[in-house]
Amino acid sequence: MNLDALKALSYGMFIITTRKDTKNVGCLINTVMQITSKNPILAVSINKENYTNEVLKETKKCAISILSTTASMDLISKFGYSSSRNTNKFENRNYQNIQELPVIMDDICGYIIGEVIQVIDAETHDIFLIRIQQTEMISDTAPMTYKYYQEELKGVSPKNAPTYQEAKKENNNAIRYQCTICGYIYDNSKEKINFEDLPDDWKCPICKVGKDKFVKL
Ligand code: FE
Repeated sequence: MNLDALKALSYGMFIITTRKDTKNVGCLINTVMQITSKNPILAVSINKENYTNEVLKETKKCAISILSTTASMDLISKFGYSSSRNTNKFENRNYQNIQELPVIMDDICGYIIGEVIQVIDAETHDIFLIRIQQTEMISDTAPMTYKYYQEELKGVSPKNAPTYQEAKKENNNAIRYQCTICGYIYDNSKEKINFEDLPDDWKCPICKVGKDKFVKL
């Protein structure tokens, strides 16, 4: 099956957070949609392996921060590529306690607070139906779309010499390494230093893991 058409679907970039006892928990998500208008309900998809999924089923209360295009890669990688199970993602972050939830306030358009009213099994993921209890707009900066994240923050510039990029794609001799955590590709033919010659403390620019997490393609 060709899945190319799915690339035309639009998504945003969000951080969903909750609190269990005194522990702040949260993760990056891209699937949040409003599914009813009166006394509105949101649908949110979270992977079952995600610690936030597990905790949210217990706490049933969450905040969703809507990231703006000014959100840093550091914020995104922290909430996207590490687990609240063993990391305090809120350390050195600007968050506020609102309705006893840790709401991420850095580079957001606004936030939504709600209560989980149902969890629907969707094989690898769960769909959380969330009744909205409170929303606030914080900034009128443009919200970050998933496409913006993929195209702008991963350093792929759609405006910059597209024919040059196409020529590179056809270079089957290029030596490339892929991060097994986030999927980032290091292409020797596009970099000043070959992957093999990078220092031992070099880290993935997206998710900050070491060279040992990369595999040769
Ligand atoms: Fe990575």
